[in-house]
Amino acid sequence: MPKILIVGGGYAGFYTAWKLEKWLRPGEAEVTVVDPLPYMTYQPFLPEVAAGSIEARHSVVSLRRHLKKTNVITAKVTGIDHASKTATITPEAGEPWQFDYDVVVVTGGAVSRTFPIPGVADQAYGLKTIEEAVAIRDRLLTNFDKAANLPAGPERDRLLTVVVVGGGFAGIEVFAELRSFASALLEFYPQLSFDDTHFHLIEAMGRIMPEVSLPTSHWVIKHLAQRGAEIHLDTQLTSAVDGRIELSTGETFETDLIVWTAGVMANPAIVRTSDLPVEERGRIKARPDLRVGDEDDIVADAWAAGDIAAVPDLTGGGVGGYCVPNAQHAVRQGKLMAKNIVAVLRGEEPKDYFHKNLGAVAGLGIGSGAFQSGKIAITGLLAWFAHRGYHGLAMPTWERKFRVFWGWWNNFWLGRDIVSLSAVQNPRAEFERFAARPKPAGEVAAPAAPAKSEAKKPAAKSAKQVEKAVAAK
Ligand SMILES: Cc1cc2nc3c(=O)[nH]c(=O)nc-3n(C[C@H](O)[C@H](O)[C@H](O)COP(=O)(O)OP(=O)(O)OC[C@H]3O[C@@H](n4cnc5c(N)ncnc54)[C@H](O)[C@@H]3O)c2cc1C
Repeated sequence: MPKILIVGGGYAGFYTAWKLEKWLRPGEAEVTVVDPLPYMTYQPFLPEVAAGSIEARHSVVSLRRHLKKTNVITAKVTGIDHASKTATITPEAGEPWQFDYDVVVVTGGAVSRTFPIPGVADQAYGLKTIEEAVAIRDRLLTNFDKAANLPAGPERDRLLTVVVVGGGFAGIEVFAELRSFASALLEFYPQLSFDDTHFHLIEAMGRIMPEVSLPTSHWVIKHLAQRGAEIHLDTQLTSAVDGRIELSTGETFETDLIVWTAGVMANPAIVRTSDLPVEERGRIKARPDLRVGDEDDIVADAWAAGDIAAVPDLTGGGVGGYCVPNAQHAVRQGKLMAKNIVAVLRGEEPKDYFHKNLGAVAGLGIGSGAFQSGKIAITGLLAWFAHRGYHGLAMPTWERKFRVFWGWWNNFWLGRDIVSLSAVQNPRAEFERFAARPKPAGEVAAPAAPAKSEAKKPAAKSAKQVEKAVAAK
């Protein structure tokens, strides 16, 4: 039985495996998906997860639960040697091993693309994973908690200043969602006022959201300005060391939350460790039928799709003639790739990928959105419903759709959850604090009872001493 290896179980990989389960006859091929994460992430929901509007676990899809006929391996692919048709699989625990395959499908996605700006690598959060979205939400909430105990001044300003770098779709969405979230939080923090919160979006180009028309992008800028958020166009971040923001305009301010959304690049961990052909922008060369290669050469038994691949856009749109990296393409390419793989296995011809952009819809916080399809633009509440309706239904599997819609319904009546769970980063702290430990060998046992004179002394113990005493008991 031919072995199909899918590298990456995100959008394109998940849909390829899901549809292969549908199209393959029993015994026709064995499918394995390898991904370091046990779930596919619905990335368009990350801004709403960061703003507490969607429960983090609801915006991911378990690979094992929904890919019932596929072997799921939770590990990284750290090398593809297509010449010998082997991939190196590196798990978190245990030794790496070689996986022999007959057909490889590369859908390893993209990672945040950054520039060597001082401080960014140390300070900023990306927004590609569910963990990042949760950390951003928790940081904002924790900062509100801290700021509420401080008098007005630079430290409080720093905690209540949010900076997003990159005015593309993802950047604007997370910026607008966080602004909306911060405004809603103020109700629970009587010590803080709207004017204490500061939101800055930094964009190097002269406009935001290239996917929508200029008038729509202007509406978004105006709308965000009315909501107390500042967009710096034609401005570059030049430094972010220790949270001190320096802009190319000379402006400086301090922040405790930087979100970096200024672009993505094909996953270098996969591209650079494979012998598959790569084009000048670092993506795997793909043909319109999604086989790896170009017009002249087909790399037999190798397929690629999604953000990691340069797939020609036959509609004539796209950037530089290639499909732009988005979910619209990744999903459809995954579905077609499954059909094409089955066709080739059966000696039939694969079909070319052709998808005309449907338009774009962005959520801009509760009750606000922007939609653009060709010349049609809708903004405000209607666009927000379109955003929720489209993405709620686009979420793969009914089980997941139900959880997302149910969560929105609950939030409508009960409000969003507003607790920071940042303490989960250090879950043993409380246990460790009070845990009894064996005495180091050779230590002299303490006297059973203190001397009378000592016992009478007034106890002026620090909090630390009290903790130690409790722990010792
Ligand atoms: C905040 C945000 C909002 C977005 N909103 C929209 C939107 O509204 N509309 C839209 O069309 N698009 C949107 N996108 C883009 C869209 O989500 C991506 O284009 C899409 O996820 C690409 O799918 P993919 O399968 O190529 O990659 P991914 O979905 O990123 O999947 C790649 C998979 O590869 C896995 N992987 C990584 N390294 C390895 C390895 N070494 N070995 C094995 N597996 C590996 C990853 O864990 C991941 O599961 C958004 C993206 C973001 C970040």
